[in-house]
Amino acid sequence: MYFDTHCHLNSDELYVDHDMFIKNALANDVRYMMVVGYDLTSSKRAVELAHEYDFIYAAVGIGPNDCKDTTDQDLNIIDKYLEDPRVLALGEIGLDYYWDDVTPEKQKEIFDKQMILAKKHQKPVLIHCRDAYEDTYDMLKHHGHPGVMHCYSGSVEMAKRFINLGFYISLAGPVTFKNARVPKDVAANIGLEHLLIETDCPYLTPHPYRGKLNEPANVVYIAQEIAKLKNMEIENVASATTFNAKKVFGIK
Ligand SMILES: [Zn+2]
Repeated sequence: MYFDTHCHLNSDELYVDHDMFIKNALANDVRYMMVVGYDLTSSKRAVELAHEYDFIYAAVGIGPNDCKDTTDQDLNIIDKYLEDPRVLALGEIGLDYYWDDVTPEKQKEIFDKQMILAKKHQKPVLIHCRDAYEDTYDMLKHHGHPGVMHCYSGSVEMAKRFINLGFYISLAGPVTFKNARVPKDVAANIGLEHLLIETDCPYLTPHPYRGKLNEPANVVYIAQEIAKLKNMEIENVASATTFNAKKVFGIK
């Protein structure tokens, strides 16, 4: 069985047909899904979905590309959601210097404040990091609170530094892309005990469905590619990554 540790059934693209996407996932033996928020609306939907289905869990948070106008009042709402037992993580949060809609200073402020909330509630963080590895590393080291590097796209060396901070490395669709040397290197060289799998749907659709809308059922293709790169059975990748996900999220 598979655990899609980062999906956006709460996005406008997938939410309208979420029943169908959930059925497709179960048909592919994707038995657990973590629905991840990135703003207040998507966080609210994540919580609602987690209450509707017992195999869906929620993460709530305000992401680096959506925090331009975030206030302390907004963060109080996130704080409240974190009291919910169906909310197992805070995310996605982090830094994204690829897009410049939000200044690095504002991104850091909101990231920092949410790290404090995660520690308060003792829930792991789901980190979005794009073109901001050193600053993200410094923030996580400073707070000393663990979680997941979501849709990890950095180097093997950097991955090892995050693992030393207590983080899992989560691989998504790019590992299946033919020209994606770096994520394939990470899949081959980082031990299975540190890895998670995710779709990050509706984005980053894996090969062979690139160009189509992504959905949780496709997490199987991420596992398949990791198995190929590690020269092992897909069942081993499925069971190890599901075990790791349950461990980090505290699921019995
Ligand atoms: Zn995401």
